Amino acid sequence: MLLEIDGLNSHYGRIHALKSASLTVREGELVALVGANGAGKTTLLRTLSGVHPATSGTIKFDGQDITRLKAHRRVAEGIVQVPEGRQLFGPQTVEDNLRLGAYRRGGRPEEDLERLYALFPVLKVKRDQPAGTLSGGQQQIVALGRALMAKPRVLLLDEPSMGLAPLLVAEIFDAVQRLKREGTTILLVEQNAHAALAIADRGYVIETGEIVLHDTGAALLDNERVRQAYLGL
Ligand code: ATP
Repeated sequence: MLLEIDGLNSHYGRIHALKSASLTVREGELVALVGANGAGKTTLLRTLSGVHPATSGTIKFDGQDITRLKAHRRVAEGIVQVPEGRQLFGPQTVEDNLRLGAYRRGGRPEEDLERLYALFPVLKVKRDQPAGTLSGGQQQIVALGRALMAKPRVLLLDEPSMGLAPLLVAEIFDAVQRLKREGTTILLVEQNAHAALAIADRGYVIETGEIVLHDTGAALLDNERVRQAYLGL
């Protein structure tokens, strides 16, 4: 088990946003966390990446307890988040944005850039353009690429499909699938339950801060409760 979250609680003042959540991710796995707006998905990611404190419970990464580790130390351990809403440097070129991802770990990123360009040819085509001039879906791929340049051991994706047109959503999920095939371990947080569960090995459903279901992605897509509440079927 690469990531083991056990009985995790998190609060905003008196709001109990995460209620004894448990979740695991194995090496190489693609795990989806789905739920409605305000269910606590982002809070789980923020607590996991260390930007919001856990009230109780434990987070283990590669066997090590990281529950109280500072956020930047978790990044150094390889827990890398692609933030909701991208946050690229718009005036900088695509390639400069990608290089920034490698900044923390130092060294020469040339090889990684070439690998990334092979995986996402659109990045190579657009490498000299200001990132801010790309379409929403392409910017999201730049954000993904930038996170990959940090060589994550687990990639945390926060609603990558948010605000994108259906065609671009398909493009993003295709990109996530390609990353998984390359062996990247991924925790994918999504409101778009159908698209996320369709590509996930396993999934968790969160409702008002509580994980209420977990199973394989395929089984959850078939689950009556999921179909009614999240797939509109
Ligand atoms: P979304 O899809 O909108 O991002 P979410 O599932 O990620 O939703 P969270 O953002 O984790 O949900 O929110 C969980 C609960 O915590 C909600 O009730 C929300 O109102 C509350 N909450 C989130 N951030 C804060 C904050 N900074 N201060 C107070 N309450 C917050």
